Amino acid sequence: AEHGGPAEWNGTGETADGQRVKVLGNVGSQADAEAAVAAGAEGVGLFRTEFCYLDAASEPTVEQQRGAYTAVLEPFRGKPVVVRTLDAGADKPLAFLAQEEEPNPALGVRGLRVAFDRPDLLDRQLEAIAAAAADSGAEVSVMAPMVATAAEAAWFAERVHAAGIARAGVMIEIPAAALAAREILDVVEFVSVGTNDLAQYAFGADRQLGAVAELNDPWQPALLRLISFVGEAAIETGKPAGVCGEAAADPLLARVLAGLGVSSLSMNAAAVRAVGASLAGATLDECRTAARAALAAPTPQAARVAAGGVHP
Ligand code: PEP
Ligand code: MG
Repeated sequence: AEHGGPAEWNGTGETADGQRVKVLGNVGSQADAEAAVAAGAEGVGLFRTEFCYLDAASEPTVEQQRGAYTAVLEPFRGKPVVVRTLDAGADKPLAFLAQEEEPNPALGVRGLRVAFDRPDLLDRQLEAIAAAAADSGAEVSVMAPMVATAAEAAWFAERVHAAGIARAGVMIEIPAAALAAREILDVVEFVSVGTNDLAQYAFGADRQLGAVAELNDPWQPALLRLISFVGEAAIETGKPAGVCGEAAADPLLARVLAGLGVSSLSMNAAAVRAVGASLAGATLDECRTAARAALAAPTPQAARVAAGGVHP
């Protein structure tokens, strides 16, 4: 193995010395939910709800949404599930949502920004999520995508609480939000870093463009530095910060993220066991040492080696 640690995982995400780091699944359908459970995920750190809207000619009713969400939540009775509200925009247009064409859809009205003009759409989704949470018995919390400021986070948290859902959080996927993590955590219950978009916006490199893929490497030390701001804010405020982007699925990077103060990792089902085993093979101190070394490295390749990996 390129780094030490047992190949087996006992099913509870924690470091060798017992620091809890939950190992969760990313899901976007009932099939994903079943795969996550079969893989041993302790819950869900990112439930993408776009599937419910994307092929719909008109907005799905609250009852339709309730049924669709309940089917995904049911395998997680008694377990934590973070439901993300609709992440649509000009790049993922919805048939029933008239949106202006935008020159730069990734920088336009997407994610939570859609709800500023159409709060009724968000409120109906929250009503459906609250009902599905009750139907399924899952421990549901809700988070918003594409949040830039603490004021936006506060606006969202107020609507989530008004819908009867106790735990509101936001994704950290815009660099400004990472730098304002402290102020954001003052107004929500948790945050989760979306490293796919955070890398895209930090490096100014389209995540869908192969020509700039090297910049979107999750081992980029500057990306890790942004995540360290979030981890430090989480430790200071005593509120949890997770990671739910692709970075969380890399077993060695999982140790670095734990060392940066992250307390949950959410990934595709296929990565669950390897990440759980990797965390179990290092103490929190070793994770912190790996994190410090990766942060100080000059390149993504050097960061990986510094954290205990081999040169790719
Ligand atoms: C992310 O941006 O890292 C993320 C998890 O969200 P999505 O991939 O759905 O944009
Ligand atoms: Mg994203």
